[in-house]
Amino acid sequence: MIRADLHVHTNFSPDSSIPPKTLVNMLLAHPFIKAVAVTDHNTVRGYFKVRELASAYPDLLIIPGVEVSTIEGDVILLGVAEVPPQPWTVENVIDFARSRGGLVVAAHPYRAFGLGDSARKYPIDAIEILNGGCPRQLNVLAEELAKAMSVPGIAGSDAHRVDELWTVYNEIQASTNLDDILNAVKRGFVRASYSEKSIRF
Ligand SMILES: [Zn+2]
Repeated sequence: MIRADLHVHTNFSPDSSIPPKTLVNMLLAHPFIKAVAVTDHNTVRGYFKVRELASAYPDLLIIPGVEVSTIEGDVILLGVAEVPPQPWTVENVIDFARSRGGLVVAAHPYRAFGLGDSARKYPIDAIEILNGGCPRQLNVLAEELAKAMSVPGIAGSDAHRVDELWTVYNEIQASTNLDDILNAVKRGFVRASYSEKSIRF
């Protein structure tokens, strides 16, 4: 089993202050979270930097990702190390993710910039049911959406500051291997969990 935070921003996102080096150091220091998806806004430059810095540590896994600001709301692609071409409609972004073997996640569906009920129209692989930046009732709505759509629910801290890292995380029934992890998430072998430091809940 591997524990992973599947939604983190580095300072390659304009609204985040987390340097890639600090992210790697925080991951190294964490007692049990050893995998992180770098999901910057509309860029994968932060992912490549984090991956480079983490390459010296074989027990860490850096999952490629990007949070795309589609016309209808934020969509996270996991396992994708490229930014989709414009225009960023949900359909285009899903097609792009499929062509790269990635997963499509509706990020914080009921918060601002979320897809909301529009998520139901699309073949989404997972719903973010525990977002570290969402009040509890919006996460509950997201969980209900995941149940209604019969898709797995996942967790992401959505950290933009160092102290927001790992507020929530996932227990994934997989080895430290990217394909294994993506497969396990898609098949629902994932459990979204609160961390002890989730004081906001
Ligand atoms: Zn985000």
